[in-house]
Amino acid sequence: MNEAAVAYETNKEQQNVLLAIENLNVHYRTRRGPLKAVRNVNLEIRERENVAIIGESGSGKSTFGLAVARLLPVSAVAAADKLIYTPPGGRVLDIANCSDEALRLWRWKEVAVVMQAALSAFNPVLRIRDQFADTARAHGIYDRALLEKKGLELCELVQLEPRRVLDAYPHELSGGMRQRVLIALALLLDPKLVILDEPTTALDILTQRIVIELLRDLKTKLDLSMVLVSHDLSLAAELADRVVTMYAGEFVEVGPVNDIFYKPRHPYTQGLISGVPTIEGEIAELASIPGSPPDLIDLPRGCKFQSRCQYVTDLCRTEEPVMEPVESNSTEHTVACLRWREINDAATHN
Ligand code: ATP
Ligand code: MG
Repeated sequence: MNEAAVAYETNKEQQNVLLAIENLNVHYRTRRGPLKAVRNVNLEIRERENVAIIGESGSGKSTFGLAVARLLPVSAVAAADKLIYTPPGGRVLDIANCSDEALRLWRWKEVAVVMQAALSAFNPVLRIRDQFADTARAHGIYDRALLEKKGLELCELVQLEPRRVLDAYPHELSGGMRQRVLIALALLLDPKLVILDEPTTALDILTQRIVIELLRDLKTKLDLSMVLVSHDLSLAAELADRVVTMYAGEFVEVGPVNDIFYKPRHPYTQGLISGVPTIEGEIAELASIPGSPPDLIDLPRGCKFQSRCQYVTDLCRTEEPVMEPVESNSTEHTVACLRWREINDAATHN
């Protein structure tokens, strides 16, 4: 287990819930009908906790991240029974129902998002210094001297040569440097939660490693919570306290990082993890599982993984699995599979 996860395991009882998400649903309006990208999702993100969301392409990871930050495109329709942000010692915010102005203040100051593909979203004609100033101005910070100081500090924090980088235009920086600038930008207003969508995917292996080390360092230094959306299992293994497996818009397994990697219970998680050689070893990609996910516009009855599951029975085709705890005395590790107990009992006895 990574060291941070050990510390987390020891302290989790004392950690407050920073963001509580209950029954979150998102669909996109499409010509064929509603595309259900996120369904019935529940999660509590605690203070100083890193949660990794893993799953194949199209499983709804980015949609989940955007929904939590209320940054979905207009074609999306989101609903939640509860989306409540409770900062330590601060004012509780009902994110699902608050005003646009309250949301604007909340974003960056409390929650920052580094979006997937944001590497190409820099304004090409602005120096990095001005990208920082733009973000600060949008939040009412105009003090140039203060901003310069903060920019220098943040560049140092993300291990970039501050003056050179602040003076540079985006095209003068490598992909890895730009990713680090994006992380620095996200930290500009000292948020408590950072959502990072595929922070390493577009980078070469060496640079991926640097970004992972950097995020690990930030976690310890800044008391941050992070949601890490990624295909990169080593990012999850090394940085996450808890891991969520997402399939066809649903959370199918949630648990402490060690349980998910060493004792995955859902056949889908088992499939994804089986391709990983070692947790601390090489950068590992998700294993590919034969078959393809269901059509999110026309979902089958019962378990959504049924067509690809080697353990499928008739019951799986009619009955929808719900999340249940793996241990009767703890809700830390939960799984949504009708047959998880039998499957795992059989595996232990073989
Ligand atoms: P990836 O790993 O490829 O980034 P993901 O897990 O982040 O995938 P999402 O991008 O959240 O998945 O997409 C979930 C589903 O919603 C997919 O079927 C996708 O095609 C669909 N989708 C995403 N954005 C839109 C949109 N703006 N309009 C319609 N459908 C969308
Ligand atoms: Mg995505």
